[in-house]
Amino acid sequence: MARIETPKRIRGTQDIFGDEQRRFAHVVDTFERVRRLYCFQRVEVPIFESTAVFARSLGETTDVVSKEMYSFEDRGGDSLTLRPEFTAGIARAYLTEGWQQYAPLKLVAHGPVFRYERPQKGRYRQFHQIDAEIIGAPEAAADIELLVLADQLLHELGIADGVTLQLNTLGDAETRDAWRGALVTHFEQHEGDLSQDSKDRLNRNPLRILDSKDPKDRPIADAAPDIDAYLTSEAGAFFESVAKGLDAAGVAWTRNSRLVRGLDYYRHTAFEFVTDRLGAQGTVLAGGRYDGLIGSLGGPETPGIGWAAGIERLAMLLEEPAAETVFATVIPIGAAAEARAVGVVADLRRERMKVDMAFRGNMKRRLAKADAQGADYAIIFGDDELAKGEVNVKRLKTGEQKTVPLARLPRIMWSQLMGDDFPDATEMTTWDHDGAVVKGPFQE
Ligand code: ATP
Ligand code: MG
Repeated sequence: MARIETPKRIRGTQDIFGDEQRRFAHVVDTFERVRRLYCFQRVEVPIFESTAVFARSLGETTDVVSKEMYSFEDRGGDSLTLRPEFTAGIARAYLTEGWQQYAPLKLVAHGPVFRYERPQKGRYRQFHQIDAEIIGAPEAAADIELLVLADQLLHELGIADGVTLQLNTLGDAETRDAWRGALVTHFEQHEGDLSQDSKDRLNRNPLRILDSKDPKDRPIADAAPDIDAYLTSEAGAFFESVAKGLDAAGVAWTRNSRLVRGLDYYRHTAFEFVTDRLGAQGTVLAGGRYDGLIGSLGGPETPGIGWAAGIERLAMLLEEPAAETVFATVIPIGAAAEARAVGVVADLRRERMKVDMAFRGNMKRRLAKADAQGADYAIIFGDDELAKGEVNVKRLKTGEQKTVPLARLPRIMWSQLMGDDFPDATEMTTWDHDGAVVKGPFQE
């Protein structure tokens, strides 16, 4: 018979497990907690959209659209694309679902995104993002709130040290056109010395040359004219409001006049939180104001601003997260005890206690499992104890052990959870054996 080959994991995808998964979950949990503090609503949007949603909003000239999209034809012949980011899908939903009525809308999303890139450390084909957007707010207050949210998130994740908020303005449409013209003139003067990528960008997307990582381009990019000389007074005032707001909120930032977003629809605020701890992939969170995006999808001109961050990249920066531990491990010894243990474990779990059962091997192995799980207590009983309606509760840290009535077990474990002293023997003997399950203090 032919040997069956085990299917392989697809290149650039990940199976996230154990410590890695705990880091991942910690990022998402923290994001969910912080977004609630800022009154952002969660949205769920599809993992795939019509290809046009991304092609139109991101623009044909961007790396993502020209090289990185996972596009396919479905059985009905429609061209679909797995989302390479959240913003475009959320903007599409804003239009098609009539969410204009809720504007300004503060939204977050998180989940998998897909880009056909060359896989390497920290760079995947399916990776995950957290994403925050404010749609329908032209005010600088929106930019400030989104940035303060990002800053608090990074602080609460404990990774703000060594991370800098770099801020720039891309001005309004008038500013941007004037500056773009000046950049093209400058780059044309040095065209011969530019990298091939930058030569290609010269007419399509000259702003992107400014943040080129190619050493050939750096001196030319560094000598390029700043936007400041081209800022209209409105655009200058807007940038100043954002800067002042960040100062008032106690968020540290630095100006990076080379920081751009490649897409045409970006206006005003552009930003990145950058770390020196991840080598070449130093951007942990990036975003900007996209006042032209919804218009480019065929909707009414609607301002918006947002950011996204790679969950994997944030997770890599985290301190070792604490392993998940168990409150009590139940260890039955004997057939009758094992049968009864199922109910004991279920009762404790219904009382909101984190409990597991050790049902394999001899007593020593079962206690070893309790230790490995980091259990505070082992609840041990054999058929003999069960016949008397009793179980042994052992505090694993100290080795102390007490025999307690099984009927009072949930109550007693609750008092342990609440930090009460381990019950003493005299107290024990006065407890009744009425068999009633006593509810914990937080139960109805
Ligand atoms: P890069 O310059 O690293 O390619 P990008 O400009 O394509 O980043 P964005 O589109 O701004 O990235 O996405 C936001 C964040 O998503 C990035 O800052 C990064 O943390 C993360 N990210 C982007 N591409 C990948 C990938 N292939 N694998 C893992 N994380 C990624
Ligand atoms: Mg990229």
